[in-house]
Amino acid sequence: MGTSTIEKLFGKNVFNDEVMKQRLPRDVYKSWKKTLENGEDLNSDIANVVAHAMKEWALENGATHYTHWFQPMTGVTAEKHDSFISAASESRAVLEFKGKELIKGEPDASSFPSGGLRATFEARGYTAWDCTSPAFLKEDAAGVVLCIPTAFCSYTGEALDKKTPLLRSMEAINKQALRIFKLFGHDDVKKVSCSVGAEQEYFLVDRDKYLKRKDLVFTGRTLFGAMPPKGQEMDDHYFGAIKERIASFMKELNEELWKLGILAKTQHNEVAPAQHELAPIYTTANIATDHNQIIMEMMQKVAKRHNLECLLNEKPFKGVNGSGKHNNWSIVSDTGINMLDPGKKPHRNKLFHLVLAAIIKGVDENAEVLRLSASCPGNDHRLGANEAPPAIISIFLGEQLDDIVNQILGGGVSSSIHGNDLDTGVHVLPVIYTDATDRNRTSPFAFTGNKFEFRMVGSSMSIGDCNIVLNTIVAREFEIIADRLEKAEDFDTELDEIIKSYLEDHKRVIFNGDGYSDEWVIEAERRGLPNIKTMVEAIPYYTSEKNIDLFKSQGVLSETELEARAEILYENYSKVINIEAKTMIDMATKQFIPAGIKYTRELASSINSVREAVPEADTSTQVNILKAVSTLLSEAENALNNLKELDKEAEIKENGKERAMFFKEKVFPAMDELRNPIDELEMLVDKKDWPVPSYGDLLFEV
Ligand code: ADP
Ligand code: MG
Repeated sequence: MGTSTIEKLFGKNVFNDEVMKQRLPRDVYKSWKKTLENGEDLNSDIANVVAHAMKEWALENGATHYTHWFQPMTGVTAEKHDSFISAASESRAVLEFKGKELIKGEPDASSFPSGGLRATFEARGYTAWDCTSPAFLKEDAAGVVLCIPTAFCSYTGEALDKKTPLLRSMEAINKQALRIFKLFGHDDVKKVSCSVGAEQEYFLVDRDKYLKRKDLVFTGRTLFGAMPPKGQEMDDHYFGAIKERIASFMKELNEELWKLGILAKTQHNEVAPAQHELAPIYTTANIATDHNQIIMEMMQKVAKRHNLECLLNEKPFKGVNGSGKHNNWSIVSDTGINMLDPGKKPHRNKLFHLVLAAIIKGVDENAEVLRLSASCPGNDHRLGANEAPPAIISIFLGEQLDDIVNQILGGGVSSSIHGNDLDTGVHVLPVIYTDATDRNRTSPFAFTGNKFEFRMVGSSMSIGDCNIVLNTIVAREFEIIADRLEKAEDFDTELDEIIKSYLEDHKRVIFNGDGYSDEWVIEAERRGLPNIKTMVEAIPYYTSEKNIDLFKSQGVLSETELEARAEILYENYSKVINIEAKTMIDMATKQFIPAGIKYTRELASSINSVREAVPEADTSTQVNILKAVSTLLSEAENALNNLKELDKEAEIKENGKERAMFFKEKVFPAMDELRNPIDELEMLVDKKDWPVPSYGDLLFEV
């Protein structure tokens, strides 16, 4: 049988383990693997040999340049290409790539957000090779470029990116989870890592129409737009048949991703019209984060080839669902034990009970910073704005685990729902899966069989942040637990005590009901759960004493780094809202108000000419529309002037936090004030005179 397309394509552009095994001398490959497995420092001889092999491989595959590929605090990736060329003599070039070029780079760091870190320390920034994520080739109009995943740090070692703290948090959870495994007799476990599978939602719209809308071009979302007669109410898009043009996009996207070793697996239409989803198979947190960045970039690139535009903004359209990503997360040992797998007899799995209790405590105690990890300006339109999921962090366990938790709280656990209580003959399948798929789509943090699914993250965001937080809070809980258990006189008694007291103290965070309901908001408040509605309200939690202590204790982020991160977020919020406000001002001034005026002129001349031609004719329709349009025009003008003034006032605020607060409290509502009359105007003005494609054009005419 021949090789399938997928097999031929898969990993073709990745310098992966297999390629290394083939191309590196045996002893070098072996010591390289040892370095990787033991997390040791890389010796320069090995680096040189690896660099050489990598270069040869890249050249054979058409590469001319290489780049240190990194993830600065902008949330997207950055790269600066260098060719392999070196001068051998005046007339001859050789192609070179040394170990030191592989290991370290020095991009001009001054234009990346640093939140004041560079001012305090040094303008310099370094990229350092992350050898745990494989190098890959990027093919585009620039030719073929060898991309080397790197971490980005300041001269003094402060993290200027999302990867460094992620790697630190992975080390933290590895260290503490190893202690837990040891306590349970798993002495053969040498390494523990977190697996992550991120489902990615996105919209596709026609590119010609997209280009006609400055709001989409400048901000990635529509800032105006009246609802079309049809929205998502029919539920006919979710899992619906995929249109040809979209299907050919998906096919090409899959192929591009497979080439890069990304296990693109699931694709389907989402709830909103023109909305879709892609999910790869899970992998190590760090690689999953890199892959998610590549997926987003590739979606945008491939879309253009099909004359489509991929919208990753969390809320491209008012009135239909926005986009997010679901971060599926679990903790696994190198021997294949998943700490989040309850197994066949969940009621007997003490390790699982402990891990579950630790996560419940960790999430309850650190809900604010978890919420913060899913905060970006676009996501404010989803979380806390009557859309999935709510801004309140709660945990969904499902029937089986809920039952176990209740039994533990009641004094002893003796059964699992599927085995004893539910003797329905459904015993072939591990019943836990059946239970877990009886899902609750409204929960921000849901147990789904053998993993937790964090559903708050925005579609445009890096999943780095939420995994940093998840790893760190759980590492911290594991540390506290291991400290206690290692000292315990009687292991079993102490273990039971920990599990029971953790569940007792933190069961308030468990909620299996409807997270969208108003009752839940009230109930959550009664339980004392935080309800942080906006990004700006979440940011201060980075620098609360509790969280500084948390991140410091696990060696993930220092106080200075946290302060810098908070500063960057305030700045980012202000910039985004400022651009949105300015775009609205521009569109209202130059497009919508003139369109309204033009229409009033048409109406007026129609009234005049009808009256002239037939004096007794009824012109009340034109007169009424003319009056309505004129009223809306003056409302729009007032709102426009108000927005202009407030935006100016916001811009001159010096303090980052104050400025962001002002944008949120004053500018943001003023944007809505302008949008409302314009959207109403859109419903009145002749379609041929409306200057931009409508929601109906964008959502239904792909
Ligand atoms: P859903 O029903 O939530 O839409 P999908 O199948 O679309 O589910 O996505 C589930 C994601 O979870 C996939 O990326 C999958 O690889 C990932 N996943 C499955 N098992 C695990 C696990 N043990 N740890 C982490 N992620 C996992
Ligand atoms: Mg999901």
